[in-house]
Amino acid sequence: MQVYLDNAATTAIDPEVFEAMKPYMLNHYGNPSSIHTHGRQARSAIEQARKKVADLLNTSPAEIFFTSGGTEADNTAIKCTLQSGNFQQVITSKIEHHAVLHTLQHLERTDNITIKYVNLDPNGSINFDHLQELLTINGPALVSLMHANNEIGNLTDIKRVGEICHEHQSIFHSDTVQAIAHYAHDLQEIDVHCMVGSAHKFHGPKGAGFLYIKAEHKISPFIHGGAQERNMRGGTENVIGIVGLAKAMEIACQNMEDHHQHIQGLKTLMIEKLKSKIPGVQFNGLSDCADNSLYTILNVSLPPADDNEMLLFNLDISGISASGGSACSSGSNVGSHVLTELGADPDRGSVRFSFSKFNTEEEVDYTVQKVAELYQVKA
Ligand code: PLP
Repeated sequence: MQVYLDNAATTAIDPEVFEAMKPYMLNHYGNPSSIHTHGRQARSAIEQARKKVADLLNTSPAEIFFTSGGTEADNTAIKCTLQSGNFQQVITSKIEHHAVLHTLQHLERTDNITIKYVNLDPNGSINFDHLQELLTINGPALVSLMHANNEIGNLTDIKRVGEICHEHQSIFHSDTVQAIAHYAHDLQEIDVHCMVGSAHKFHGPKGAGFLYIKAEHKISPFIHGGAQERNMRGGTENVIGIVGLAKAMEIACQNMEDHHQHIQGLKTLMIEKLKSKIPGVQFNGLSDCADNSLYTILNVSLPPADDNEMLLFNLDISGISASGGSACSSGSNVGSHVLTELGADPDRGSVRFSFSKFNTEEEVDYTVQKVAELYQVKA
């Protein structure tokens, strides 16, 4: 049996999304900047996609900019905010995705920005009192805090972060890559200046994402060399990817409640089965806590064993694709900065299982069975 449980790394394209993209691969191939019919067809598809994304986020199309994905959108939000504003100070957490952390650490070296890290509670939750304290003591800053952690699934109350930032005249950027199209984001309710999405995390194509920039938050262009994206991002647009992104987001948002229930059901089933079959199993962060954790991610901490470093390899041999850390580091041997920050025991084996609407109970049964077999062999 082949089981794909690495949906936080990337998801399968939904066949309906593929159908929506196909005409733009085969027939409507015009350059959206051309003024003839072929060009106008492509331009119209981009603007319809922009309107769709904006409607789903309850905001204006003028605030949506298409990018090559989450990493570019995070880089842009951070670099352009710091270049355009008077901020030299950034507040973030040590468990952000590298698209945020490495960007900030680079700017710390090249642009003399100061980074302050907000304290985390032992389970990885943001300590809001410390965030308030940092802003009170140090004054306005760019605050970059993610909505849903890509390794342990912890959810942060971004509405509350937005309110705190507003109180302190600060700019709020949120890496929402793992949460967009899995939770409703109403931008009339959340006080955020920049927010990002990536199509391949919700059954859309790879290489297509977006950056929301609040109208009042004026930043300079991200890529020079063309008038595309209203002079903000030069370069011929990825029409096929943009069409796929909007379609995938539409499907996800229309069926959000059903998908949520189905996937949460699989995650709960896996938690129960693992607990019943593997004595000493634990869950990293808030992973097993239904209300405060992304329903698509379960980060399992398995008891110490000699060949724990072979865990993912052994699962792979059994046909199960999962991850041992951040999506972007899967395949590499670099340890997880998130689990290290949480003080996780390095002798325990950590596996991130991440689910999608395409997974089944049978796949969960099979996976738990294989994990249990691996542990019986070791015992
Ligand atoms: N931010 C988070 C939280 C992610 O999980 C990822 C991808 O794993 C990214 C950013 C990067 O997104 P992309 O792969 O679209 O560049």
